[in-house]
Amino acid sequence: NRAAQALHTVKKADGSVVSFYHNEMTQAFPDKMIMETHLRRAIELNELSLHYQPQVDLQNGEISSIEALLRWNNRKFGAVPPSEFITMAEENGLIHPIGAWVIDQACQQLQTWSLQGINNIRIAVNISPKQFAQTDFDQVIMNALKKYHVDASLLEIEITESAMSNMNTTLIMLKKLKKIGVKISVDDFGTGYSSLNYLRLFPIDILKIDQSFVREIQSEHKDAAITKTIIHLAHSLGLEVVAEGVEEMAQVLFLRKEHCQKGQGYFFSKPLPSAEMERKLLDIV
Ligand code: C2E
Ligand code: CA
Ligand code: CA
Ligand code: CA
Repeated sequence: NRAAQALHTVKKADGSVVSFYHNEMTQAFPDKMIMETHLRRAIELNELSLHYQPQVDLQNGEISSIEALLRWNNRKFGAVPPSEFITMAEENGLIHPIGAWVIDQACQQLQTWSLQGINNIRIAVNISPKQFAQTDFDQVIMNALKKYHVDASLLEIEITESAMSNMNTTLIMLKKLKKIGVKISVDDFGTGYSSLNYLRLFPIDILKIDQSFVREIQSEHKDAAITKTIIHLAHSLGLEVVAEGVEEMAQVLFLRKEHCQKGQGYFFSKPLPSAEMERKLLDIV
């Protein structure tokens, strides 16, 4: 029986079983569309949250900035990885309201911490290239800063090299952001279509060395060489430098020896829910 052979069953996370015939299998899996419907309502249903991961000074162990990482906990799909739902949001335009929500939330957090005496700690938010390309992106930033009476220098935006592909519009936007006073950092530095030219032209404050270089600095000669070179490049340009994905003491020792200022990664802390991060910060102030 050929039809029976073509039948394929999939057991879903909630325990239910879905059957497909061969021709149906070649169509897009319907879960993607269902997931989109859920993502559309994620803000109003309070399913989004920010987790916080410290960037630690490698000389004295102090925390001066914290990266905000978006989490989506959906009642049907559970915790969906950001790599998955952010890509989806970029495709369907939801990245605009979601991205604005992230900025709003980060500024509210800065206000809350400031009222608790936690000052001078910066929050870094990830900005998608689509969001950065909005002509009124600077307004989104300005509105949130104003709404929560937050000092612009406490907000940092992380953009990737792919967000900077158009020289003219990038320069215009970065100048506007610089004027507002937010800090600008280049995320995943070295993995994109890097051009040393933009380091010369754009008002950048921080380089974040991608974790793919940091991962094997002890064993891979090339990764060590690239990491050192990025650190030295940042220094000669007067930029701050942060190594991502630091998981082991040996990496800390290497980075310290090369005078890398900051490290971020599981060695210091996993991304934590806001309340846990707050406890950590209140311990040190
Ligand atoms: P990213 O900006 O490069 O963030 C770093 C990722 O590495 C985070 O994954 C973080 O949890 C993870 N990580 C931190 N320390 C370590 C470590 O020691 N080892 C390893 N193996 N991983 C570590 P996460 O939270 O899953 O986020 C993935 C990506 O999703 C982010 O990469 C960023 O590109 C994007 N993303 C997260 N939040 C937002 C957001 O609010 N807006 C936008 N547009 N993108 C976001
Ligand atoms: Ca980032
Ligand atoms: Ca990164
Ligand atoms: Ca990344």
